[in-house]
Amino acid sequence: MTGFTEVTPTAPISADRHGGRAKCLQRLIRLDMPVPLTMALDFTSVRALAAGDMPDLDAMLTRFGPDPLVSVRPSSEDPDWGGPGALLNIGMNDRLYANLTESHGEHAANALYLRFIQAYAIHVARLDPDEFETVQVPTSEAVRAALETYEAETDERFPQDITVQLAEVLRSMARAWEGTTARLLREAKGAPAEAGLGLVVQKMALGVGRGLSGSGVIQFVNGSTGEREIRGRYLCKSQGRDALTAPADRDVLFLKRDPRGRSIEDVLPNNWQDLLRFGDLCRTRLREEMQIEFTIENEKLFILDAMRVARNSRANLHIAVALAEDGIIARDEAVLRVPPRSLPELLHSQVDPEGARDVIAHGIPASPGAATGRIVFSSRAAQALAAQDEACILVRSETTPEDIRGMHAARAVLTERGGITSHAAVIARGLGLPCVVGASDMRIDLKARTLTCADGRVFHDGDMITLDGTAGEALAGAAPMLEPDLGESFQRLLSWADAARDIGVRANADTPEDARKALMFAAEGIGLARTEHMFFNDDRLLAMREMIFANRTEDRRAALERIQPMQRADFIELFSIMRGKPVTIRLFDLPLHEFLPHGREGLRELAEGLDLPLSDVTRRAEAMREFNPMLGMRGVRLGLTVPEIYDMQARAIFEALVAVSETGDAVVPEIMIPMVSANREVEIVKARIDAVAAAVRIEQGVEFAYRLGVMVETPRAALRAGEIAPHCAFLSYGTNDLTQMTYGLSRDDAGRFMGIYVKQGVYEEDPFHTLDFGGVGELLTIGAGRARTANPSVTLSICGEHGGNPESIAFCRAAGFDYVSCSPYRVPVARLAAAHLAI
Ligand code: PEP
Ligand code: MG
Repeated sequence: MTGFTEVTPTAPISADRHGGRAKCLQRLIRLDMPVPLTMALDFTSVRALAAGDMPDLDAMLTRFGPDPLVSVRPSSEDPDWGGPGALLNIGMNDRLYANLTESHGEHAANALYLRFIQAYAIHVARLDPDEFETVQVPTSEAVRAALETYEAETDERFPQDITVQLAEVLRSMARAWEGTTARLLREAKGAPAEAGLGLVVQKMALGVGRGLSGSGVIQFVNGSTGEREIRGRYLCKSQGRDALTAPADRDVLFLKRDPRGRSIEDVLPNNWQDLLRFGDLCRTRLREEMQIEFTIENEKLFILDAMRVARNSRANLHIAVALAEDGIIARDEAVLRVPPRSLPELLHSQVDPEGARDVIAHGIPASPGAATGRIVFSSRAAQALAAQDEACILVRSETTPEDIRGMHAARAVLTERGGITSHAAVIARGLGLPCVVGASDMRIDLKARTLTCADGRVFHDGDMITLDGTAGEALAGAAPMLEPDLGESFQRLLSWADAARDIGVRANADTPEDARKALMFAAEGIGLARTEHMFFNDDRLLAMREMIFANRTEDRRAALERIQPMQRADFIELFSIMRGKPVTIRLFDLPLHEFLPHGREGLRELAEGLDLPLSDVTRRAEAMREFNPMLGMRGVRLGLTVPEIYDMQARAIFEALVAVSETGDAVVPEIMIPMVSANREVEIVKARIDAVAAAVRIEQGVEFAYRLGVMVETPRAALRAGEIAPHCAFLSYGTNDLTQMTYGLSRDDAGRFMGIYVKQGVYEEDPFHTLDFGGVGELLTIGAGRARTANPSVTLSICGEHGGNPESIAFCRAAGFDYVSCSPYRVPVARLAAAHLAI
């Protein structure tokens, strides 16, 4: 048993035993491509080999005839998992060197032998690369010097026997695969810990002989755009992938007629026609865009290898759609070929390349897209600005898990330190936030709250900058932007995803701008409009504060009457934008004290605005302060304590509905009660809202419908869902608060120890990011089951941050949810992830 299998059309070769490369080569052979004789060694044999059990090489090598030269390439199950580099010209020795000098000329013989000695010395004998890599020009002196260096370093003659050479090459590749670094690298690409390596031994096509010889690569698609175009290079008298690294002034034949030089199309027209044909065969029969590695030996074409064209996310999507459009793959398969997490790269604004760029810092482009905002130096400041709907850019030396919420709040992140896998980079990519890390040419002074650039300019807290995460640069001011170009292919793929999926996707959107984005991304409606967010601007804030500070019911009513038209206008705008699509409006939730000003200055301004003595305002603000506001007077508790607020909101919703219905869009608003923990809360609020609806119907003389629902954010609401569901049309799980309350973990403070918890394996992940299936998930499942039993027609959904995460979507789908709702930019990800689950 040699462990080797000759790759023939009918040989029992499989990707999961011999690796992707071996399987691909078999496919090329089946398509009648001129692939040199190839032998595949399976995973088991390679594992045995690493442990010292060498297969019978002599028996295998007889298949290659006398004095063969062979190459060895890795063949992992998934080519993306990588593997050791290819080794060429195994079998070269002094005798063959002399023969080749005769038959192929001195230059070719020198090039081949030198290349082999160098590669063997560095990758197999593990000698110092500096000793060997300096020699570039293949002369006979260089060959002699390399052999002497080898002998001096190893005290052994350079091995002359192909069996010995091959054994060492195979052993070193098998061991390299077992090494810790290689293992970590492939695991980072998703390979399982026990991923196997196969090896392929292939007869060399030399590419360096007399006559027209050389090697090259060709592909038929652009790996950046996904557009069909022929790309690649061919280098005369070369081997392997030399053509890709050769300077243009060497004897490079451009693949197509090119003003810069001769074309392979002119020089080797038959080989060219064959290459085009093979490219086409790969596309139609292997159903993929492949890069073909080929060698021409004295005008005879050999196909050595073909691999999936390396591509970015945009090109990947474009290629998948084009293959489906051409009928080569099914639409569902095109959908499956695009990972949902690859979409954020396509979804973000970019700095207009035509606009002026005033670069103030350079770093590593860690997460694509661009955003403009005010500089903030702390997560707390980012959250404060975000709460006022102000865009900000979080600037830190580096981020830590404590910065998570600040990153959520910021539009982009810039760090002085860190690399592509630093905390900031990883988290920003996950959030789809533009991010630049390692911008070491700027200096941050946290005390002075300044950012100093290399040219000496100083930027302060609050100054406007633009972060270009695609280019890895920070720019002064608000740079001109281009909105994301979602393009035909994007829209088409997502429409196919929509046809396949069986769970709805809505967006969380509070502002008209968010709602427009939600529509742009084809959300089926708004699943959560947080109404308190509509009040964080100057005029409205004052009206709110007047309402909060009113001592008497009449005063409060008067203040609410001022607020009501503003709310009505908000809802008219949201309904108009959403044009008949469902809009879920959450009634006021925020703890009232969050509307109070902070610090003496703020209180004084408020006292002025309200024309009240400062002492009065301070006393009331003090009286309103709670020890634990997140568990205090918020949500429905406020709704029951100050019922005029919900009355006002309900009226604003119904009046807006009537106004918009007049323009022809049938709106059925969904009113959602937050922070429910008892059924009676729902009954009381429902009775009042019904009364407001009845009053508006009479006043306006118009009939309309609305749906009332409950936001399940407390464990009790989940457990009592069977009792609550009969009173409402829908239940939406607010998993942010539900996670907070299930764990008893403050969503605003957990960052302080979350890193330690995750590092020590107490929690596998931050449960505010990744839905905790075991605990919070169980509440979801229990609640969903009880709600459905009590009210089979109840609509179930999730609207916490987890709603856009593919794993949470899978969980909700399995629990029978009707839809998920997430921030607008995550809507396409959710649509695609949902389709992946259904296909
Ligand atoms: C939630 O709690 O999950 C939710 C969506 O509401 P908020 O984040 O506004 O508390
Ligand atoms: Mg909540």
